[in-house]
Amino acid sequence: MDCLFCKIINKEIPSQIVYEDNDILAFNDIAPKAPVHILIIPKKHISSHAELGEFDAELMGKIHMVINKIAREKGILESGYRVIINCGEDGGQEVKHLHFHLLGGKKLEINM
Ligand code: AMP
Ligand code: ZN
Repeated sequence: MDCLFCKIINKEIPSQIVYEDNDILAFNDIAPKAPVHILIIPKKHISSHAELGEFDAELMGKIHMVINKIAREKGILESGYRVIINCGEDGGQEVKHLHFHLLGGKKLEINM
């Protein structure tokens, strides 16, 4: 499949991996918008948040626990952070493989 993030999962494209298990990969965003900017993705190809099914509930819960763990390791659990999912055209999603942005390490702007 011609999917950038599937290629990162398969190590066909290099990335700076922050966390990996059987179901989830986390790596640094190539164009960071904050001191901490990490993308957390399911290894299963799900094209967007809109494509989630009920069987993905456990996986999505696990992703949030991984985000929490990474936030702790990066030292931003106390200072705060933001988790963003862009979905579809209006949501500004560029890569069509579901991903969670974890941003922190500075006071983030409020912008819609
Ligand atoms: P989105 O706009 O939500 O689809 O976000 C896609 C994100 O992927 C952007 O923040 C990009 O900077 C990031 N990105 C694109 N290509 C790469 C790559 N090869 N490695 C890491 N991050 C990437
Ligand atoms: Zn994919």
